[in-house]
Amino acid sequence: MAEPVNEFGLIQQIQQQTSVPATGVKLGIGDDAAVLEIPAGRHLVAATDTLNAGVHFPVDTSAFNIGYKCLAVNLSDLAAMGATPHWALLSLSLPGADAVWLKSFTAGFKSLALPFNVALVGGDTTSGPLSISVTALGSIEPGRQLQRCGAQPGDLIVVSGTVGGAARVLDLLHETLLHKTLSADDQNLLDRPQPRVTLGQALVGHASACIDISDGLLADLGHLLQASGCAATLATGALPIPGILADLADEQRWTYQLAGGDDYELLFTLPVNQQVLLKTWSKELDITLSVIGTIEEGEGTRCIAPDGTEFHARKAGFDHFGNES
Ligand code: ADP
Ligand code: MG
Repeated sequence: MAEPVNEFGLIQQIQQQTSVPATGVKLGIGDDAAVLEIPAGRHLVAATDTLNAGVHFPVDTSAFNIGYKCLAVNLSDLAAMGATPHWALLSLSLPGADAVWLKSFTAGFKSLALPFNVALVGGDTTSGPLSISVTALGSIEPGRQLQRCGAQPGDLIVVSGTVGGAARVLDLLHETLLHKTLSADDQNLLDRPQPRVTLGQALVGHASACIDISDGLLADLGHLLQASGCAATLATGALPIPGILADLADEQRWTYQLAGGDDYELLFTLPVNQQVLLKTWSKELDITLSVIGTIEEGEGTRCIAPDGTEFHARKAGFDHFGNES
């Protein structure tokens, strides 16, 4: 029989199972607040993101993958700023005190916290529908952060990894006709996005603007363009293709690539005279970097198919309080 655990037992379990070598933690879990020492001469960078069951992940997602993803999406936000992650806070709303579920959850969380040296320094534990909110804290040299503004006409538009795979997995999970099970690699496209932290840091001082793709390439590029006061032309034929989209007809594939969310890749703009760096980064960081278009004067995004015609994607991304348009 499982031992009963109370709130403080859960907190203790979280603390024990997520501990990683910490930097700058003057006071961690256990008091009313944490006290952290920001590295000398650097600025604090803060991001927070919530995952709600059934909204941000399918209800049957494994506890390990939920633990991984709640940190991954936050590290992705720090990556998009070019920041170095240091600490995290974790707000957990749990339907029950399930030590077995929690063990798996903390293992997933730690599987990312350890390689990125992120110490969990506090949080909150409450009972309610499953919801996980993480706040990631990092640092950067003053004024060096990558932002959504700053793209200039003539800059190249570059994306890391592949796009559209996570949305395809989500659709396949919803399709009642899915008899074959997804491979672990395919499932990971949705459940285990790789936060591009080292890429973000490499881009500092080079990229003119940057954003991470959470809501869909077109939607997030739209935010970057709006902040930069520019337009974009994309080549659909240049969009990087995940294996899971390889068999689809062009238009269906482009729709996933342009409108599918949850990939957590970096989308950045780069002055043409910096283009040689793409090869270096790609090699050193072992990451695919694809030039998918250019920044132009004006507003909006035009997607051009390989035959030269314009492609109009069906929907522009995910909006929690809107309709798909
Ligand atoms: P308070 O009532 O003062 O908010 P809590 O009892 O909620 O304190 O938390 C006690 C300590 O445990 C605090 O240091 C808090 O940051 C930490 N804590 C609570 N829940 C979590 C969690 N899910 N992850 C990490 N730390 C937690
Ligand atoms: Mg509290």
